[in-house]
Amino acid sequence: MGLLEEAQRVAAEFEYSAEDVNKGVKEFIRQMDEGLEKTGATMSQIPTYVTAVPNGTEKGLYMAVDLGGTNFRVCSIQLHGNSTFSLTQSKVAIPRELMVAKTSKELFSFLAQQIAEFLKQHHNEHYHSSVRRRATVSQPGGFTEEEIFSLGFTFSFPVHQVGINKGTLIRWTKGFDIPDAVGKDVCQLLQDEIDALHLPVKVAALVNDTVGTLMARSYTSPGKTGTLLGAIFGTGTNGAYVEKLDKVKKLATTEEGGDVDKTTGEMIINTEWGSFDNQLSVLPDTPYDRSLDAESVNPGIQMFEKRISGMFLGEILRRALIKMIKDPEVPLFSDENSSNNDVHSTTCLAHNSPLFEQWGLDTSFLSITAGDSGPGLKVTRQTLDKEYGVSAASSEDAHAVKLIASAVGKRAARLAAVAIGGIVLATNKLAAPKDIATADNETVNEDEIVDIGVDGSLVEFYPDFEEYIREALRETEGIGAHGEKRIRIGIAKDGSGVGAALIALVADKVA
Ligand code: ADP
Repeated sequence: MGLLEEAQRVAAEFEYSAEDVNKGVKEFIRQMDEGLEKTGATMSQIPTYVTAVPNGTEKGLYMAVDLGGTNFRVCSIQLHGNSTFSLTQSKVAIPRELMVAKTSKELFSFLAQQIAEFLKQHHNEHYHSSVRRRATVSQPGGFTEEEIFSLGFTFSFPVHQVGINKGTLIRWTKGFDIPDAVGKDVCQLLQDEIDALHLPVKVAALVNDTVGTLMARSYTSPGKTGTLLGAIFGTGTNGAYVEKLDKVKKLATTEEGGDVDKTTGEMIINTEWGSFDNQLSVLPDTPYDRSLDAESVNPGIQMFEKRISGMFLGEILRRALIKMIKDPEVPLFSDENSSNNDVHSTTCLAHNSPLFEQWGLDTSFLSITAGDSGPGLKVTRQTLDKEYGVSAASSEDAHAVKLIASAVGKRAARLAAVAIGGIVLATNKLAAPKDIATADNETVNEDEIVDIGVDGSLVEFYPDFEEYIREALRETEGIGAHGEKRIRIGIAKDGSGVGAALIALVADKVA
């Protein structure tokens, strides 16, 4: 067997057929329902207490802050009411000692000081009104409603959310460790320090970044119908969508169920779909997926994410390439110029190549090779040389690498389609009467559009990601060629800024 045939064989291990897609979609819908009914299901289906999506006509000046990992971002967003906005922002690195401070007060008072700084610099009038107030009023508060900024707080750590601006910290991650904050309401912790500085700011909403993506897209998307789904395909993958309130059965059984605003009859649900099918009842499972999982920090967890997102695709490809490098018959990257007939000793791969290290292959390489169609795949070969210690890859080597890389990328996109298709079908968005007797080639009216917002490097930069998703959607029963045309996918930029502001706005309306 030649090298390319062997590459085709490995690539075939990543095939995910139309039948697989359909099985996946059915199981996705089943696990969605299960998550809506009870806590502790594979897919968490977390109620966000956000009960409406914007339509682009919203107006006003809002604030948003984002505590992600290394940085704290503060911004103000002016919503112009015509689907556009202006954003002013500042970013500051979080001092390492505050990540492991003795008390949460130290961290949160630092955050409040950054908000004060931001107001002073960019919204002098608001800042001075607070200074004046401090001089005349002995206790905090006392601002008129117009003076107060509503703020959306994006907090990217695990929280148990119990209201639109209320959620207790479950545990710190990403190097943070301040034990006394665990179990406390993070919005209150921030509000207390804001009040201590007498700032005219109200923490109106606790925001998840996926929900922010959905809100941002819904505000900026063309047309008046709201967006159904916000999905992230970046380091990780997750989605949030608009669900009928009466389907969120577990809300009624929790003590917080009473706090819900019922006027729209809907609520945004954060699916946490990264953990879809952790039990692997329908997900594909190659030897490369298995070893990646076994050697990960969380075996058996986030199994859907481990087949789709940026953090993992490069590593899946790396494992498949290693298998081919070690092939005794037709090894990848063998040195054609060597006169030595012993293939084991002739390779153009440096012994310290990152390809030999776990996580040594970045997912951006999949995009590079997918976009390389030039003669002899020059760009792929150059990248292998510069980044991965492969000094003289042949054109055949490059073709073999490209074949496998495309197979990994295509499978990821088809799996992404399982989640997107599952949500479109579960929410009945393509239901009659709109699509009665519509031929496949018929044009789609604006009011038939089902809008989806996406964000993340993978969907933004992988050349065929959306097309592969669309192909799989066309193969999905209940969607088909016409249904696929009705699905509009658009990039939602800056979910954590404008999205958080929009959630603060929605929170104000229902307060
Ligand atoms: P995050 O999800 O952390 O907010 P991104 O959306 O930028 O950030 O995603 C980062 C992930 O995307 C990383 O895992 C990285 O390997 C991957 N990535 C970066 N550039 C590209 C690219 N050009 N094509 C595909 N994946 C990429």
